[in-house]
Amino acid sequence: EDTVARIAAGEVVERPASAVKELVENSLDADAKSVDVTVEAGGTERIRVADDGRGMSEAGVRAAVREHTTSKIDGLEDLESGVATLGFRGEALHTIGSVSRLTIRSRPRDAAGAGTELTYEGGDVVSVEPTGCPDGTIVEVEDLFYNTPARRKFLKTTATEFAHVNRVVTRYALANPEVAVSLTHDGREVFSTTGQDDLQAAVLAVYGREVASSMIPVETDGDELPPGPLDAVSGLVSHPEVNRSSRDYLATYVNGRAVTADAVREGIMGAYGTQLGGDRYPFVTLFLEVPGEAVDVNVHPRKREVRFDDDDAVRRQVDAAVESALLEHGL
Ligand code: ADP
Ligand code: MG
Repeated sequence: EDTVARIAAGEVVERPASAVKELVENSLDADAKSVDVTVEAGGTERIRVADDGRGMSEAGVRAAVREHTTSKIDGLEDLESGVATLGFRGEALHTIGSVSRLTIRSRPRDAAGAGTELTYEGGDVVSVEPTGCPDGTIVEVEDLFYNTPARRKFLKTTATEFAHVNRVVTRYALANPEVAVSLTHDGREVFSTTGQDDLQAAVLAVYGREVASSMIPVETDGDELPPGPLDAVSGLVSHPEVNRSSRDYLATYVNGRAVTADAVREGIMGAYGTQLGGDRYPFVTLFLEVPGEAVDVNVHPRKREVRFDDDDAVRRQVDAAVESALLEHGL
């Protein structure tokens, strides 16, 4: 692969967390019931994502690392739902593989015979061999940016890179409580959800008992909200006394996709009002349903920041939904 391609890859795969996001998304797309994420040194040395999804044949594994390969035909649908999934459909594995040493081990679900192990280095297939492996797929990314030293220099401390990885995996775990998601860093299990289809159980697994027991349900249909584009707002928000000085715990979703939006954050903060001290944020896992045409995705697709055609109305609707939940609890 030439330098230009590697630089382009560096702009798409910004840091370990971006690779983790793509790999976890692939596992969920493959209908996995469990997804285990293991990282070393914040993901800079090693990222491993193992799933029990539908797996790939040898031809499938070979195709997966090719440029512009996707087995997914829902690209258009994603755009229509208003929140495009990726700026690079069919590019993730190829792109990650061009700036790392990549190994894919996969076996189609319920297939007879062995699985396939493919190794890929800096954009080239090194080997393809049959291997014994469980149903599903294991992708390992080692030495991210080993061949792009300038990009590697931009990596922050292990703690910071891991914080990004943790936030990404947490968001997927909370949005998919029916999938057992685990995260392990440098040999220590950080969390592991049970895979029972229950948001409260997922919050307990990820954030622990203090946070989980403070959670207040939000459950509001559009017709209970002030006028605006939202069809529904649901999820869990913490008691105001359970808060942190970071926005990292505001997990917000639009039509099932993890996004950030100023209007949503401001609506949440407005509902808490003065009950939160300055620069304190609650724990929030909040799902918004909205017709696709009301969302503007083009602010920054990769960073998943969205705006709405009518940000003011969304802010008022989120504020009202969260406020009525807090009020019901005498807050
Ligand atoms: P995209 O997800 O946009 O299709 P990717 O580069 O992420 O592009 O993946 C390429 C293809 O490889 C996918 O379309 C899918 O067919 C296959 N693939 C990748 N990861 C997995 C996985 N964990 N399980 C099954 N198939 C996978
Ligand atoms: Mg993908």
